[in-house]
Amino acid sequence: MKSSEYIKIIKSAKNALEEYENWGEDEIYMKKISSASSLDNSFAAGSLPVSQDAELESLKKQTAACRKCSLGAHRLNCVFGEGSSNADIMFVGEGPGFDEDHKGRPFIGRAGQLLTKIIEAMGYSRESLYIANIVKCHPMKDSSDPEKRANDRPPSPEEMDSCRSYLDRQIEIIRPKIIITLGASSTKGLLKNEESISVIRGSIRQYKDVKLMPTYHPAALLRNPNLKKYVWDDMKKVMSFLKTGTI
Ligand code: SF4
Repeated sequence: MKSSEYIKIIKSAKNALEEYENWGEDEIYMKKISSASSLDNSFAAGSLPVSQDAELESLKKQTAACRKCSLGAHRLNCVFGEGSSNADIMFVGEGPGFDEDHKGRPFIGRAGQLLTKIIEAMGYSRESLYIANIVKCHPMKDSSDPEKRANDRPPSPEEMDSCRSYLDRQIEIIRPKIIITLGASSTKGLLKNEESISVIRGSIRQYKDVKLMPTYHPAALLRNPNLKKYVWDDMKKVMSFLKTGTI
């Protein structure tokens, strides 16, 4: 059970006990409220599961200090990811670009603005989903100058492998119903597939115990708007899966 669900149970128990008090059941109220308070206290003491938000925050601190691969030496900011810790959908891109490295947030450049439009067309807000990348630091063609424009590159397989434990932990904490990989890099990084993105996109796969839908990266749609219809077809499959629970 998620910690948010424990909190809901505690709150409804307290509400019910307050009703007892309204009915004049003082004795029952005093006895029961003290046991509800001790449940709250055990939460604070950490004997019940810590919240998903707290777990993500702790993981974020670890990534901020990480230098496991060479990307960590040149980044301006570690771009951990953002969104709801209870998200049904988790988008996974390849890595931060120039804008993301400067601001420390994922998908905020032109490709990110297009991703936001796709999310809104699906009937969600950015805040209600989770957006992350397979590597948390900016892969640069020329790592000596993070201020250089047009300096982004895809992460290497080794860089993705070095960083994947952080993404895996994010997935374990959030437990999304489906992951949507954006582009060839993050798809290959998770699935280790040989097929090109044009072949694998649109077919629901499995990553550990979570469904995974590969689709094109929004940057590819900026270069070739004809790809938009394919991404929308893929998103319709995701929406249908979330609605019916079947593929
Ligand atoms: S990309 Fe990932 S593994 Fe590499 S330094 Fe950054 S956080 Fe660490």
